[in-house]
Amino acid sequence: MELAERLNRLGTETAFAVSAAAAAHAAEGNKVYPFHLGDMNLPTPASIVEEMNRAVSEGFTGYCPGSGIPELRAALAADIGAKRGMSYTPDEVSIQPGGKPVIGKFLRAVMNAGDEVLYPNPGYPIYESQIEFQGGVAVPYGFVADGEGGLSLDMEALKSSITPKTKVLIYNNYHNPTGAVSSESEMAAVAELALQNDLWVLADEAYYEVLFDEKATSIAAIPGMRERTVILYTFSKRFAMTGWRLGAAIGPKPVIDVINKLNTNAESCTTHFIQRALVKPILEEKLETAAIMRTLRERRDVAVAGLQGIEGVKITAPESTFYLFPDVSEVMARKGYEDVNRLMDEALADYDVSFCTRKHFGRPLPGETHQFIRLAYSGIDVPDIQAAIARLKEYFEK
Ligand code: PLP
Repeated sequence: MELAERLNRLGTETAFAVSAAAAAHAAEGNKVYPFHLGDMNLPTPASIVEEMNRAVSEGFTGYCPGSGIPELRAALAADIGAKRGMSYTPDEVSIQPGGKPVIGKFLRAVMNAGDEVLYPNPGYPIYESQIEFQGGVAVPYGFVADGEGGLSLDMEALKSSITPKTKVLIYNNYHNPTGAVSSESEMAAVAELALQNDLWVLADEAYYEVLFDEKATSIAAIPGMRERTVILYTFSKRFAMTGWRLGAAIGPKPVIDVINKLNTNAESCTTHFIQRALVKPILEEKLETAAIMRTLRERRDVAVAGLQGIEGVKITAPESTFYLFPDVSEVMARKGYEDVNRLMDEALADYDVSFCTRKHFGRPLPGETHQFIRLAYSGIDVPDIQAAIARLKEYFEK
């Protein structure tokens, strides 16, 4: 029996394959130091758990509207608007089982077969997968060194990739895997491109609240952008609740109406009692989220300081996300390695440290000269970070 031809174009999140390799290594009796997945080992705030238990015991266990419960749509419209200096109405919010489904549903709503879609690469791998699976043409744009030890968007590449067929731009400020944050001028330049070329924009703001010192800003708030931008919102990272599966799409009503119809076709509705559990925490913004950020900041600082002490590793502390994307080109050169995944394989097999590499975040672009690994510190405590980095030091400097 043959399967559908379009499956040849379906990608995946290969970080999950690294998880499987790490689990197999652990099953052989080894302790694994896990830096591979953007999952969290922090508990979901107790107030959210209490709200969910209450919702179940009060009987919110049946179907609810495909667009989401009105109370959560209203709470999110208010919260997302307030945090961006904008105003949204509840009918511009579509509740989703996580942030990830927004990517495929948004593309289904705005992209025709053959349309070109600009997407960040390295970037979250589901962009490339969903664009191609749904018959679009995935056009990558990368990053360049910003001269201050960080990365900025390759605006020249971005501009020169635009053709009359370009219809959509995916923009992930507070970026996975690099942790990069757009400057005000960079965000304005991206918005200008979208406006000049009449593009739809998916603003993936999964890490909007995972920001250490700066104040978050959204491309949707730039004049002219609201009408063409859908925001990907997720509760996963902000409230340490990756496995609950709760997120939302926020944008112009005509697109949100289509996404709601897709919800009804796909999952009917997002789990009723989970939606109900988040209404109060969103409205009240409990202090527990500050505790999550404190923990992440401590981990980031320990990990960055440790990595900076390894000869041949280049990294500066990113301002957002819980990812580090160190440049390991010199380590690779010293070892005479071509394939950065060899570093990943050996680190796990011989030093019990698991991480992803640049190769897990989209097909590498022609002409890339630097090599990167990606460490997520959302699922590993400080003592283990210290022990793991001591191991990496031994291995990388050997
Ligand atoms: N967008 C980016 C950039 C991400 O890194 C992730 C998760 O890692 C998502 C979207 C999806 O998040 P969720 O867990 O809410 O589906």
